[in-house]
Amino acid sequence: MRTPVHEYLAEIRDSCYYYSQGEVATYIPELAEVDPDQFGIALCTPAGTIYAEGDAENEFTIQSVSKPFVYAMALVERGLQIVDAHVDVEPSGDPYNAMSVDPESGKPSNPMINMGAIVTHCLVGPADATPQERSDLIIESLCKFAGRKLEVNEAVLESEFANRYRNVALASMMRSNGFISIEPDDAVWGYTRQSALNVTARDLSVMAMTLANGGVNPITHERVVPEWVCRQVLSVMTTCGMYDSAGDWLSSVGIPAKSGVGGGIIGSLPGQVGIGTFSPRLDSHGNSVRGVEACERVSRDMGLHIMAMPAPSIDAIGQQSRTESGAVLVSIQGALTFPTAELALRRFEEIPEDESEVVVDLTAVPQINHVGDRMLREGLRRLGEDGHQVTLVDPHERIPRPMDHDRRRIPVIDDFATFEDAET
Ligand code: GLN
Repeated sequence: MRTPVHEYLAEIRDSCYYYSQGEVATYIPELAEVDPDQFGIALCTPAGTIYAEGDAENEFTIQSVSKPFVYAMALVERGLQIVDAHVDVEPSGDPYNAMSVDPESGKPSNPMINMGAIVTHCLVGPADATPQERSDLIIESLCKFAGRKLEVNEAVLESEFANRYRNVALASMMRSNGFISIEPDDAVWGYTRQSALNVTARDLSVMAMTLANGGVNPITHERVVPEWVCRQVLSVMTTCGMYDSAGDWLSSVGIPAKSGVGGGIIGSLPGQVGIGTFSPRLDSHGNSVRGVEACERVSRDMGLHIMAMPAPSIDAIGQQSRTESGAVLVSIQGALTFPTAELALRRFEEIPEDESEVVVDLTAVPQINHVGDRMLREGLRRLGEDGHQVTLVDPHERIPRPMDHDRRRIPVIDDFATFEDAET
């Protein structure tokens, strides 16, 4: 059997191909001259499977799609507090090249518009790094997100840099407001070079999935950034990634995203999918017309809106049952997060005090977050304190070992059969 996802994606490509409105970016000849009809789409899954259709292997410049990744690098190097002190996270509702600052602090509104992106560019690397060193560091890191070596499009760099004056004005304002300390020309050169990196829609899907995957590249399995950084970046992409159409995008597509004037868009839905699209004709906000349409369709057809109801957790724990030997058995199914852990704790509460043996089975738990872990440990501890003899069945090591001081009291076994064998 061939998975139908290929055909599905081909259908999306075909149906969106007919959207021929919009104009390619014309502010430099290199962008004005691209073939406007190109259209590629790629999806990358958490397991690293890539589905690519149309012109998904064609190269184009990443442009503003680099911004969330460079913001991520700044966060890794400087930490949230320092980065927050340099750039706000407020949707500006302004175009990407607007002069958009907080009226009191003079801080740029967010890192997804040029002004904020120039500041985050300058936050990467040691303070005494040369523009070339800083730029090389950034490009090296962008390559890790993509999982392959990306090249700078020198013609685009040269042409954009020759037309740099608006961005230099933005950088000069940032310098004068005290948010960058390097020469505006140097800051803009580095920012322009990061924007001139050649990528494909396929690369973008992997980069998007890396953010959606808590920072681990699904292809190379390398941890590129920590999970908290992804959460921060995806939050800002959600509110600011699509410039002045961010609100419309959030309600209709509902996937954290970022667009660029080269025609690329990334969509990163945490834990689910990374989307990369490429089509050069842009709408009035500077977002790819076919890309927007394709993301809207994928979101609707695949149920990917971030505000859609997640799978219910209400049935995650069945009624109390018993093992063959008569011990109370609490089996948990599904991801162990707050609502599931709360259900588990309530089941623990129902166990009569005179029941001595309790078995908690995590065999069907695919994932556990830190809250689930803490709540469960505390529940197990309390059961032990009440005099129950608790055994945890945890074959996939969802609860990180060792169980610290609890370990003495709570035996952890790998497989349910072991328990039954020992008991019978
Ligand atoms: N090179 C463009 C600029 O800085 C990138 C902007 C974009 O992609 N929206 O003007």
